Amino acid sequence: MIAQNIESLRARIGETCRRVGRNPEDVLLVAVSKTFEARKIAEAVAAGQFDFGENYVQELNAKRAQVSDPRIRWHFIGHLQTNKVKYIADFVHLIHSVDNLRVAEEIQKRAGQAGRVVDVLIEVHTTDEETKSGVRPGGVGELVRSMAGLDRVRVRGLMTMGPFSENPEDSRASFRQLAELAQAVDREGMEHASMRELSMGMSHDFEVALEEGATILRIGTAIFGERKKNE
Ligand SMILES: *Cc1c(COP(=O)(O)O)cnc(C)c1O
Repeated sequence: MIAQNIESLRARIGETCRRVGRNPEDVLLVAVSKTFEARKIAEAVAAGQFDFGENYVQELNAKRAQVSDPRIRWHFIGHLQTNKVKYIADFVHLIHSVDNLRVAEEIQKRAGQAGRVVDVLIEVHTTDEETKSGVRPGGVGELVRSMAGLDRVRVRGLMTMGPFSENPEDSRASFRQLAELAQAVDREGMEHASMRELSMGMSHDFEVALEEGATILRIGTAIFGERKKNE
């Protein structure tokens, strides 16, 4: 089941990329495994999927202990509390959700202790909805500039979530805004920050995200099925 879902998802990603003149190899599929058991992750690994995204530090570490395939790359995509950074800094592949300088400074400190450089994205709040985390579009440039001295934190791009809506077209304005923001920040030519990666698009709106330039898709439901809890 999971293998089939991944296969058909990759086919849809391929078709959309061809339609808009993009190379599917420039798109990274992150399988969002939150709330699903470790054996589902193992099933996806058997199907050739190695990038996984989790929203909670504790859940991520529990699963990592259960499926310890060295090919797996763990992405942190949820709200990151400063006091939890130490539990992921020595292995995490990409943190998608940096939205303030304090958490960036903590990543700097813990990455230093682990002797590594950690790649991050800046999470941007592109909707009017109250509940979402992320820095406001107007604050992105300032946050990225303020991270210039953090030599163990490498900014790779931006991340956002579209609005809560069934209609994928409702996400287009958010995704377009993220792409434009990345271009604007890129024009500043900051050495410590690349704006190459755009992490946007989930199960219901990834095709729109690809049309607007997404390089990383975060997809759960279309791979693992519906989640029981409302998350
Ligand atoms: C749950 C989640 C996803 C995946 O959502 P689906 O609709 O299941 O594909 C992507 N990004 C974030 C930040 C999430 O919390």
